Amino acid sequence: MERIIFATGNEDKMREIRMILADLNIPIVSMKEAGISAEIEENGDSFEANAVIKAKAVMELSDEVVLADDSGLQIDYLDGAPGIYSARFMGEDTSYDVKNTALLKKLEGVPDEKRTARFVCAIACALPDGRVLTSLGTMEGRIGYEIKGENGFGYDPIFFLPEYGCTSAEIPPEKKNELSHRGKALRAMKAELEKLPETD
Ligand code: IMP
Repeated sequence: MERIIFATGNEDKMREIRMILADLNIPIVSMKEAGISAEIEENGDSFEANAVIKAKAVMELSDEVVLADDSGLQIDYLDGAPGIYSARFMGEDTSYDVKNTALLKKLEGVPDEKRTARFVCAIACALPDGRVLTSLGTMEGRIGYEIKGENGFGYDPIFFLPEYGCTSAEIPPEKKNELSHRGKALRAMKAELEKLPETD
């Protein structure tokens, strides 16, 4: 395998992904770097289904090994919302300051024990021979009471990690990769990829 295309246009994610998959020793390129542009409709009903849709669509366009992820935030008090709609919640172009403020407002007055939430990440790998591999990772936490921290992206500034006493936007990137839903799912996928004869 000469390289892997990661089907995302999100530079924040690419940075995390490259760090986590560094010791796979296979170059990971973004769709942009591979010269592929595609508008893929994420119309699956789960993180896993959406990751598979993206990976397959880009594999069919490129005829190369393609990884894709789908991730989001599930808030128990909101019955799992924003969930698979995390990126689209209040509109794709709305800033995360606005989205995070709105979520904090929805949880106003809700006590600690009912603020449980998790980040979920599904990874899919589509191979040109038609095989599809998938993995899933989660990171448990709680919705905090204020926006805090400059690291990470998206909903990190409101995602409180009780065992660290801070949000996932306040921990260093290496630590986040160790704990995160994406880190866990990618490491599980890396183990699967290492088993493939093509990566020998
Ligand atoms: P998608 O996986 O690109 O469809 O988008 C997932 C969305 O979930 C992102 O745009 C973020 O809003 C949110 N999300 C996923 N992972 C993280 C994370 O590690 N930190 C903060 N927000 C995240």
